[in-house]
Amino acid sequence: MASRTGGAPPATPYTSEFEERRGALAGGLAERKLDAYLVAFSPNLRYLTGFTGSNGNLLVTPEESILFTDPRYAIQAHAESAGCRIRIAKGPLTPEVAAAIAKLGLKRIGYEPARMSCDAYESLKSRLPMGASLQAAGGRIEELRMVKSPAEAERIRRSVRTNSRAFERAVARLRPGMKERDFAAELEYGMRRLGAEKPAFETIVAGGVRSALPHAQPSAAPLAAGDLVVVDMGAFEQGYASDMTRMLFLGSPGAKVKRTYKAVLEAQLAALDAVRAGVLAGRVDRAARATLEGHGLGRAFVHSTGHGLGLEIHEPPRIGKRDKTRLRAGMAITIEPGVYLEGWGGIRIEDTVLVTENGCETLTPTSKELRAV
Ligand code: ZN
Ligand code: ZN
Repeated sequence: MASRTGGAPPATPYTSEFEERRGALAGGLAERKLDAYLVAFSPNLRYLTGFTGSNGNLLVTPEESILFTDPRYAIQAHAESAGCRIRIAKGPLTPEVAAAIAKLGLKRIGYEPARMSCDAYESLKSRLPMGASLQAAGGRIEELRMVKSPAEAERIRRSVRTNSRAFERAVARLRPGMKERDFAAELEYGMRRLGAEKPAFETIVAGGVRSALPHAQPSAAPLAAGDLVVVDMGAFEQGYASDMTRMLFLGSPGAKVKRTYKAVLEAQLAALDAVRAGVLAGRVDRAARATLEGHGLGRAFVHSTGHGLGLEIHEPPRIGKRDKTRLRAGMAITIEPGVYLEGWGGIRIEDTVLVTENGCETLTPTSKELRAV
């Protein structure tokens, strides 16, 4: 008998999941001596309510949550954010938010300083009733977002799968002479055709000496025979990000490419091996770094080993040298050491993984062999 659920995640997490998240946020208010949280940052709004519009404010109190948006998003807000009271402002949101703060008698309002413009801050502050104040209280939602629920992990898994399938499709069409830009377009077209909403960031395709630029933008340069090519791509699917880097070689690679590739792969595997709940993020970074140092490539590794991902392509925790975050089961992170040698080229290998109690689950299914095309 066909199962109605069939293993597929629901189109949106259950309303109760959003309620739980708002509950967790509201549960921390008293400890911070706050009466409410004001949330304006889109990924945080989406996390707490399901709302995907570009203009919204959310006021979370222990009793209720009010979502403010404008008439363009009225239908969408009611469809996506069941469980919140919804206020449609005719003009700017700030006066409505200030009026609600006054009506509810809220005094200490936590806000996200890194996520609010000076304009919005000043505008709201000037409208607050007597005795009410804005208190910097950033990072709390990002902290909650670090550990993914099973429904979120399933979305990341799906996004990773789509991303890898798009890679395979595009690689099958790759020929020497194709422009970096055209290959990037093939990759992004594939993602969308396979179910992604959009790329999670600007797809990186860089050949030859340009592969030494960790964040190269695809150019009109043709990918030529004898080129080492870096491909760094990610998709957003059902709101959740994937991230993968793979290396291609047009022709047959020489000894230095093979040797350097092997060193980076060894570093990537060492870092993956270090991942497990309870370990400090910095230790995972050191595992990759020490391996590359052992190959005399320590100075060519110019970035951190990885980052969290979810509703954003880069979110906490950072997997860097000095990061003290203790990994927890359910965190979704990337592991992506790389080496960059000016005038020669660069090599990076990146997977998306889920932290588990005893290690990690590598979600990226794509082979890590250096791929000759
Ligand atoms: Zn990447
Ligand atoms: Zn990445």
